Amino acid sequence: MIVRGSTLFNPISFADAAVGSRTVHLRLIETTDLHLHLLPFDYFTDSPSPGVGLLAAAELIEAARAEAENALLFDNGDFLQGTAMGDYLAYQRKGTAGDLHPAINAMNALRYDAITLGNHEFNYGIDFLMSTLSGAACPVVSANLATRKGAAPRGDRTLVRPYVLLDRMLTDASGARHPIRIGVIGFAPPQVIDWDRHHLHNAVHSRDIVETARAWVPEMREAGADVIVALAHTGIGAAQHGDGMENAAIPLARVPGIDALMLGHNHMVFPSPIFTGTAGVDAQTGTIAGKPAVMSGFWGSHIGLIDLLLSHEGGRWQVLGTHTQTRSVAAAAATAGQAAPAVTPGRQKVSASSPATVVERLAASIASVHEDTRNAIRRPVARTDVALHSYFAHLGETQALSLIADAQRRHVTARLADTGLRALPVLSAVAPFKCGGLSGPGHFTDIPPGPLALRHIADLYSFPNAIAALRVTAAEVIAWLERSASAFNRLRPGGEDVLLRDARVPGYNFEVIDGLEVEFDLSQPARYGPDGTIINAVAERVRKAAFDGKPLDPAQEFILCTNSYRASGAGGFPATGAGRCALQDGTITRDLIRDHLEQIQTVTSGAAPPVRFTPLPGTHALFETGPGAAAHLDQIARFQPERRGLSSAGFMRLRLDWSSA
Ligand code: MN
Ligand code: MG
Repeated sequence: MIVRGSTLFNPISFADAAVGSRTVHLRLIETTDLHLHLLPFDYFTDSPSPGVGLLAAAELIEAARAEAENALLFDNGDFLQGTAMGDYLAYQRKGTAGDLHPAINAMNALRYDAITLGNHEFNYGIDFLMSTLSGAACPVVSANLATRKGAAPRGDRTLVRPYVLLDRMLTDASGARHPIRIGVIGFAPPQVIDWDRHHLHNAVHSRDIVETARAWVPEMREAGADVIVALAHTGIGAAQHGDGMENAAIPLARVPGIDALMLGHNHMVFPSPIFTGTAGVDAQTGTIAGKPAVMSGFWGSHIGLIDLLLSHEGGRWQVLGTHTQTRSVAAAAATAGQAAPAVTPGRQKVSASSPATVVERLAASIASVHEDTRNAIRRPVARTDVALHSYFAHLGETQALSLIADAQRRHVTARLADTGLRALPVLSAVAPFKCGGLSGPGHFTDIPPGPLALRHIADLYSFPNAIAALRVTAAEVIAWLERSASAFNRLRPGGEDVLLRDARVPGYNFEVIDGLEVEFDLSQPARYGPDGTIINAVAERVRKAAFDGKPLDPAQEFILCTNSYRASGAGGFPATGAGRCALQDGTITRDLIRDHLEQIQTVTSGAAPPVRFTPLPGTHALFETGPGAAAHLDQIARFQPERRGLSSAGFMRLRLDWSSA
């Protein structure tokens, strides 16, 4: 069935629409939030990282192009910063006139049709950005960033052109060609001028995304745009428009005249089930307010595809149907099975008999800057006077976690300083990611005193999460602590040698909330099961939770720093899930840890443990940790640890006296 109506847009599925000779298939392909992940390589761990990187995604891009008669390729911003290569190029290599930035070189080689700017494009200053963009072979669009603001958006002197009209010839199913004018407009989060204030103050001004769209889209129509694509470096947030909102996808989709939305910024995948139930969003078909929209993860993890089925009759283009999907680079690599990876950093075998693909040529062109970056990452960024380890995180010895908590708090506090949330106290939730468990007795963070380089940051924070901050009540904080306290087995008073940790709860689900003084009573049953479901609603292990020396008032509100994984609802922690974020700006937590370390320069001994336990006289527990803990037993002297040999899996067993906990 083909629905034709007075509206330009009819969100019917492709499967229902017979492709006739008068219909034209136009495919829009998106990359977003590449963060200068070109090669599939992780500079934090100094090792290959399959499943990310534009050069890996390029294989999918070429395949997606080959499937469609007509395709356009767009990047949605945040391409310039995010790996050590980006920092190396901006701060050390500098670059001489005529040098092409590898990101731009890659986008030119892959024949992008247009790109927009994300917030991170400004991290290295305007001069660096503008000289980088000068090498771009395709138009760069952004409508809501201006070097001089007029009375209304159309009176602004924008930093780059607000939109572009791409005149293309589209081939229909019968092979006939038809001219079309495709309007492409770009948007960035208006907060960028605050986030990079030191670069942008008085030099760049921003406007609300929706206000800007309402102003420019009619002009694009007047200028003959047949179809309008919004390259919106913004995520899916609140349904209602609020002035200056950061994640404006839903109200933007409602702006008349926009036919398709390329999204990004909050590093998620759309369509995906996480958005099920979000008002105005169809998480299955990939539409927002009825418009096709796509968000393709981050670091080149996915490409996003919007297929438009168009008709061209009487000189007028109409959108008959749409289809939205993402394709995962990791999934494609898994399907390819034993086939050798198409992209390997470093030396490339390029022989005259087998002409190099564009991907191979790009990898070869990046090889030298890749090696220079690997040399740069070995330089220390700071030093630590104390050992940073995770052997006793569950016992409240959280020096390594406090460092992460401080880094999160610094970033979130700065980001919220200009908002109505600045008065709320900021708590910071952290978990020991490398903490034994199924990964074995060697899987602990263990950094000796001395210099700290990037690889140590990856050791401290082993997942590439992004920062997120939630607005929570004290009651929700206490529920969060109950979920965390459920990581332990129950200790019966007078009991002997019960294993302390519930082996079914991974380290990353033991959350410590930095900023509170907490006491757990492990003689009580757990409220939560290992999967995060409530198994005993009245169970209370949180004996004490105090802020600033005073017990929490249940109605009191806080900002709680956490990460994108947790904020999405993973692990069943309360107050999480779509729509709960006060801040989710896509900053990678490892990056803000590095920034924090560069600020403090030296890690020194921290505050008292944020978690204590209610003493249980005559009670002992068995605690399993990595054998490397032997060097640090003095830190848990209050438990009078006795060594009990190794477990069958190789963990060091300690008998702990809970009467003095
Ligand atoms: Mn980003
Ligand atoms: Mg961003």
